[in-house]
Amino acid sequence: MKASISTLNDLDEGIDFRNVDQIKRGLLASMVRYVGFDPESATPHDWFFALAGLLRGHLSEQGMRTSRSQYGQDVKRVYYLSMEFLTGRRLMKHLLDLGIEPQVRAALAELGQNLDTVAEQESDAALGNGGLGRLAACFLDSMATHAYPGYGYGIRYEFGMFSQTIENGQQVEHPESWLQNGSPWEIVRHNVSHTVRFGGRIVCFRDEEGRESCRWVDTDDVVAEAYDLKETGYGGAISVNLRLWSARSTQDFDLRYFNEGNYIEAVKEKTVSETLSKVLYPMDTTLMGQELRLKQEYFFVSASLQDILARFLKVHKNPRLFPEKTVIQLNDTHPALAVPELMRLLMDQHGLNWEDAWDITRNTFAYTNHTLLPEALETWPIDLMEALLPRHMEIIYRINYFFLQEIRRTYPGDVEMVRRLSLIDDSTRRVRMAHLAVVGSARVNGVAALHTELLRSRVFPDFDRIYPGKFVNVTNGITQRRWLLQSNPPLATLITDAIGPAWVSDLDRLRDLEALADDAAFQDSFRAIKRKAKTRAAALIAERCGVAVRPETLFDTQIKRIHEYKRQLLNILQVIARYNHLRASGKPDLLPRTVIFGGKAAPGYFMAKKIIRLINDVADAINHDPAVRGLLRVAFVPNYNVSTAEILIPGCDLSEQISTAGTEASGTGNMKFALNGALTIGTLDGANIEIREEVGEDNIFIFGQTAEEVARTKAAGYNPWNIYHNDPELKTVIDMIRDGFFCTEQPDRYHPLVNALLDGGDVFLVLADFRSYMNAQAAVDALYTDEKTWTRKAILNVARMGKFSSDRAIHTYAREIWGIDKMTRDDA
Ligand SMILES: *Cc1c(COP(=O)(O)O)cnc(C)c1O
Repeated sequence: MKASISTLNDLDEGIDFRNVDQIKRGLLASMVRYVGFDPESATPHDWFFALAGLLRGHLSEQGMRTSRSQYGQDVKRVYYLSMEFLTGRRLMKHLLDLGIEPQVRAALAELGQNLDTVAEQESDAALGNGGLGRLAACFLDSMATHAYPGYGYGIRYEFGMFSQTIENGQQVEHPESWLQNGSPWEIVRHNVSHTVRFGGRIVCFRDEEGRESCRWVDTDDVVAEAYDLKETGYGGAISVNLRLWSARSTQDFDLRYFNEGNYIEAVKEKTVSETLSKVLYPMDTTLMGQELRLKQEYFFVSASLQDILARFLKVHKNPRLFPEKTVIQLNDTHPALAVPELMRLLMDQHGLNWEDAWDITRNTFAYTNHTLLPEALETWPIDLMEALLPRHMEIIYRINYFFLQEIRRTYPGDVEMVRRLSLIDDSTRRVRMAHLAVVGSARVNGVAALHTELLRSRVFPDFDRIYPGKFVNVTNGITQRRWLLQSNPPLATLITDAIGPAWVSDLDRLRDLEALADDAAFQDSFRAIKRKAKTRAAALIAERCGVAVRPETLFDTQIKRIHEYKRQLLNILQVIARYNHLRASGKPDLLPRTVIFGGKAAPGYFMAKKIIRLINDVADAINHDPAVRGLLRVAFVPNYNVSTAEILIPGCDLSEQISTAGTEASGTGNMKFALNGALTIGTLDGANIEIREEVGEDNIFIFGQTAEEVARTKAAGYNPWNIYHNDPELKTVIDMIRDGFFCTEQPDRYHPLVNALLDGGDVFLVLADFRSYMNAQAAVDALYTDEKTWTRKAILNVARMGKFSSDRAIHTYAREIWGIDKMTRDDA
C-alpha cells in the first residue's frame, strides 16, 4: 500500500528551524552537498545559495502539503494569469514568513557571515515593468497568507527588466539575467510540459451525425516547460505556487538539415523557438504591436490553460463543472487569448459543443483592466492573428457573430452600437483584446474607485449598459509584510511594541496608532526612525549617484516608471522654480530639500528619455552651484527596482503622486509611501482620492484639476500659451529649458519637451497645474518647519492605511468575484 508515503510527516531531514545549531549544521551540509564549495573559503554569494538550497526543501514540502490539502478538500481554485510578476528578492521574505529570521541570522553569524550581506547577493527577479507586475506579487502574498487556494501563471523570462545606468545624463539599458548564476528557488518540472502550437491551417469535417469538428494541423510547435516558485504566506502554513513557463524547442535538431551536414541550420530552429521566453517587453503603458509579444501571450496562456484543465480533469470527469471549481483572473488583456483558447480546448480536445463550451468559458474568467490611456488598449492585426492562430481567429469571429446578433436583437437598427462594440475594429482590421476580455468574462474590474467610474462612463459605456453589474471596483493594495515589516523593520517594531502584532495580517489594526499621534515619546521614536531610514537612503544615493545629500533636509521623492502622464516634468519645473527663487532671494527662506527621482523609461520612448536627461542636467547644475549649497540637491537614482524601492520609500518625507487626473488607474507606490510615514503631495487621481478619504484632507497635500475639470479644460480648447504668458515664474523656467541653460553644449536639447508643452498642446496639463502645484509645495515647506504637526500627520497617515492592504483587495476578489473560500491544511 501507499500508506508509508502518503504521510509527509515521516519525512525527517533532521532540521528544526527553531534551533540555531541545527540550522548551522544544515547550512554546512548544504554548502558541501548542494553548492559544492568548501565552507572554509565560501563567499557570501556561496552562503546565499547554501541557505536558499536549505530553505527550498522546506518550501517544497510545504507546497506539497498545501497541494494535498487542496485535492483532499476539492477546493475551488483561483488562477492568476499575468505576463508579469515583479517579486524582487525572495530570501528575506521567506525567512519572515517562516518566522526564522533571528535563528538564521544567529546561525550565519556563528559561521562568520552577516545575513544582510548574504541576502544582498540575490539578484532581483525583475519579471515585470512596474505596478501591474508588483500587484501580482503582492496578491500572491496575500492569497498565501490568508489561505486562499491560489495559483499564479506567467513566463520565466530569462532576461527580465533591463538594468539602467545613467551615462552623460542619459539612460543606458543593459540586459540582466536573474538566472545568470541559476536561481536556487526554482523547482524544475521536466515532467510537466505542454505543446503550444502556432501557424498551420484548419481542417473541418462532419461525423455521421452531422456534427462538425475541426482540427488544427501542420503547426509549428513549441514546448512549454514548467518551473515552480513557492510563494510563502505569513505564518508559513499555506503556499501559493507560481508556475512560470519556459520555451523549449520540440526538436533539438532538424534532422533534414542535419543529414545534409548543415549543423548550424539544424539547431537554428531550436534557437528561434526558445526566444519565446527570452526577454520581457520593457513597456508599461504603450502597446508595442510585435509578433513575438503576441506569441509570448499565447504561449503562456495555452500552456497555463492546458495545465489547469489537466489538473481539473484529474479529479472531475465532467467539464461542465469546471467553473464551479475554477476561476481564472486575467491581469489586464495580455492573457485575453485565454478566452478562445479555452473554447478551443473544450471543443476540439474534449468534444464539447459550442453552447456548452461558451457557457463554461464566460463563467470561468474575470478580467482586470489597468489603464485608461487609449494608446495602451491592446489590439492585434487580424492578418497576424490569422497567420499565427487561425483556429482562434475563427473562434473569435464566431464569438463576435453571436455577440453582435444579441446586440442587434436588443438594439435593433443601432448600427453605430454594433460598430463600437464589435470585437473587431473593421476600419483598422484589428482585434480588440479588451472587448474580447469583457465579453468572455463574468466580471470586469477597475483598480480604484475613480478608475472604475471612468471605465464605466468613458471607456466601456455601452458594455456597462448591456451588462449591468458586470463592472465592479476592487481598489488595489500592497502587502504590508513586504512594504513595512520587511523593508522597514525599525518602524514595524515600533508599531508592534505600541499596538501588538495583529496589523501584520490585519492592517486595519493600525487605527490603534491614532491615539499615539500626539504622544511626545512616540513622536520622538517615529522621527528617529525616519531619520535613520533617510540616512540609509542617503548612503544609497551617495553610492549610486555620487551625490552627497543630508538627512536633515526634507526628502522629496518621485520614483516610478518615467512617463509623460506621471508628470516627472511637472516636478522638475517646480525644482527649477525653487532653484531660481533661492538664487534670486540670496537667503535661505525655503526649507532645505533633497529631491529624489528614480525610474526607467521604455527604451523606445523618446520623450521619457528626454525627461530623464533633463532631470540629470538640472541635477548637475543645481548640485554644483554654490549659491544653493545646503538648500537644494537633486538626485536621479539609477536602476529603480523593488530592492531600491525598499530603501528609498522608508526614507522619504514627501511622496510625489502627481499624475494628470484621470490617467493613473490606481497607483500603488502612493500606498507604500504613506504606510511608511510620508505625506503625499498629489492630484485627485487613482487611489490618491481614496487615500485622501482615509487620511483626511488635512493630512495630505492635494492640488490640481480633477478628472472632470481636466475633461472640461480640454473641451474648452486648452491653450498652454496663455498660462505661459501669464505666469512669469513659469515662463522663466520654460525659457531656461528652451534656451539651453542646463545644456549649454547643446542648447536645443530640450526643444522637443518645450514644444510638447507649448505648441503640442500640453496633453497632460503640466502648465495648467503648475501654479496650484507650487502653492501646495509652499504649504509643504510651511508645515515641515512645524516638526510636531508634521510628525502627527505622518503618524495619522500610517494609522489610516488599513484599507490599502492587498489583503483587503484579495478578500474582496475572493468574495465578490471569485467565489472562493479559505482552505485549511489537513495536517495543521
Ligand atoms: C510599487 C512599484 C511600482 C508602482 O509604482 P507607482 O508609483 O504606482 O507607479 C513600480 N515599480 C516598483 C519596483 C514598485 O515597487
